[in-house]
Amino acid sequence: MEKIDTAVIGAGVVGLAVARRLAQAGREVLILEAEDAFGTGISARNSEVIHAGIYYPAGSLKARLCVAGRRQLYAYCAERGIAHRRCGKLIVATHESQLAELEAIAAHARGNGVEDIQRLTRSTAREMEPALECVAALHSPSTGIIDSHALMLALLGDAENAGAVLALKSPVLSGETSGDGTLLEVGGSEPMRLLARSVINCAGLGAQEFAGKLRGLPPDSVPPLSYAKGNYYALAGRAPFSRLVYPVPEAAGLGVHLTLDLAGQARFGPDVEWVDNLDYSVDPRRAESFYASIRRYWPALPDHSLAPAYAGIRPKPHLRGDAARDFIIQGPGEHGVPGLVCLYGIESPGLTSCLALAEHVLRSSQSR
Ligand SMILES: Cc1cc2nc3c(=O)[nH]c(=O)nc-3n(C[C@H](O)[C@H](O)[C@H](O)COP(=O)(O)OP(=O)(O)OC[C@H]3O[C@@H](n4cnc5c(N)ncnc54)[C@H](O)[C@@H]3O)c2cc1C
Repeated sequence: MEKIDTAVIGAGVVGLAVARRLAQAGREVLILEAEDAFGTGISARNSEVIHAGIYYPAGSLKARLCVAGRRQLYAYCAERGIAHRRCGKLIVATHESQLAELEAIAAHARGNGVEDIQRLTRSTAREMEPALECVAALHSPSTGIIDSHALMLALLGDAENAGAVLALKSPVLSGETSGDGTLLEVGGSEPMRLLARSVINCAGLGAQEFAGKLRGLPPDSVPPLSYAKGNYYALAGRAPFSRLVYPVPEAAGLGVHLTLDLAGQARFGPDVEWVDNLDYSVDPRRAESFYASIRRYWPALPDHSLAPAYAGIRPKPHLRGDAARDFIIQGPGEHGVPGLVCLYGIESPGLTSCLALAEHVLRSSQSR
């Protein structure tokens, strides 16, 4: 049986950032990934937005790691030449009744450390985005977009340069904790048993399943998992916007918002659809309700201009209908298993936060 210092389970953006940080801290790291390529899970199906950290509850991990992670991520993109654009984002009030909410969002954002958020009058907002209709807006200049695959490639390169090894087609099937570490049962074409002194569970949508098969981990420490699918619809032709545009948020989510990719393709979504399976098909009929919402801030949206694009699935660490939860990061102090760190519910802003999450995991894993 092979012995290693640290096994990172999952090669999404979080697992890769964690592997990089731990390897750079001098740890021997093996990344175990079930699929035949890195970054094919949640990290391949998201909005690729570098979030400023505006809405998250004050003091939450999401708020703190997003603000810290965003700063680290821009610096990392500049250092490593990763394609990104600090395009900015507008949050628009389309009715006088939303003005108080707009002020509340700005105050909350400043409390979270988003100091550069600015209030815009209707005319300033329309000077910036002439196609926009609104009564007032907020401008977040530090919101941006990023090539998430290029980011993952850079993280993997750094991790490998620091000695980490990526093993693809290596699903971790189960584990058992012991005094010497955690014994991992790895499947795939070359099954093996590994004794890891430290295990970091970054398995995304598979985090709860693996934790449930880890003998010695208290089962009641593992949160539930629900799937909240987000459907995206691409706009035919060029959008007359150079910034991301979000309405004042609605009860069920951020509202039907416009994001752009680095090639300038505009898409609307993601919405929130609770599902029971990992089904990534996009129902064209869901777009029908989008038109009226979008026309509140972009009246000139052409008929029949939205087509199904793709979907991603958020790993919600609670039951459907229950209150939203923060990122859950459990180290030995929480579950009692030495050397084990489990990450659950790493939905948005996990991409933005990946470098700060990695720092957090390093600290958690040191408290073994
Ligand atoms: C619709 C949507 C939109 C989003 N938009 C944004 C955004 O704009 N900005 C932002 O900051 N964040 C966004 N996010 C969040 C962000 O995408 C995620 O937080 C991030 O990608 C999670 O990365 P991960 O590494 O935890 O998970 P994943 O990328 O899913 O990686 C987990 C990996 O673990 C592997 N795995 C699973 N089980 C096992 C096992 N037993 N053994 C071995 N390997 C295993 C999987 O194959 C996978 O490769 C969005 C998420 C969604 C769903």
